[in-house]
Amino acid sequence: MPYLQHNNNNMLILDKTIGLIAPNICIGCAREGYVLCPICLSSAGNPFPPRCAGCKKLSDNYRTCSSCKNWLEIYSVYVSTTYEGLYEQLVHDLKFNVKRQAVEPMAEIMTQVVPNISGDVIICPIPTASSRIRQRGFDHSKLLAKEYRKKLEQKYNINWKVENILGRKSNVRQLGSSRQKRIEQMEQEFYIDTRLDLKRKTILIIDDVTTTSASISAAAKVLKQAGAKRIYATLFAQKA
Ligand SMILES: [Zn+2]
Ligand SMILES: [Zn+2]
Repeated sequence: MPYLQHNNNNMLILDKTIGLIAPNICIGCAREGYVLCPICLSSAGNPFPPRCAGCKKLSDNYRTCSSCKNWLEIYSVYVSTTYEGLYEQLVHDLKFNVKRQAVEPMAEIMTQVVPNISGDVIICPIPTASSRIRQRGFDHSKLLAKEYRKKLEQKYNINWKVENILGRKSNVRQLGSSRQKRIEQMEQEFYIDTRLDLKRKTILIIDDVTTTSASISAAAKVLKQAGAKRIYATLFAQKA
């Protein structure tokens, strides 16, 4: 009975359409008009303690500790939440339920931690594989970066700009290999927009979720090779 079989492409288009027209309902309390209402947002979890993103040991101002510095060339990695519960649901809504509005509460939570950086900063999203952008119909990473930038300006009058410095060649599947191997794989996937002069620039990498910090580590290596002076990163969540 072929007419009963799902056509994946059609299902995806249907999902996207529903995502555009359905009213927002809070994922915590089902209140209408919000993806995550202010009450659920403020009670969704405990503040994430400042830690080294490499080894997860407590660390002053989210600094990368001296033993992780050799593979994670990022000065501080600001992580807002643990990837669980409502926070995990937000990321899932954004990436798999194609709910663009999820970036708003994500950026709100991310800007509760203000990166302690002086001077001019370029915000650099981790690029998404083009196959994923086609599937979703939008680039979730750029969307999150823009919303984050907007909130920094609204809340703190910080005016950093977003530049899409990095591109992604292909969707090389990450096999169950070592961290070092994953970093090398990612490094080969990323390329730099050579029209931009990164010499002596301070860059803040932004990404939604990390498990092993392999993508931000690879991105930092590529940016450093292109002359960037100091790299920071900000992440919505880290897997425990
Ligand atoms: Zn709620
Ligand atoms: Zn460490």
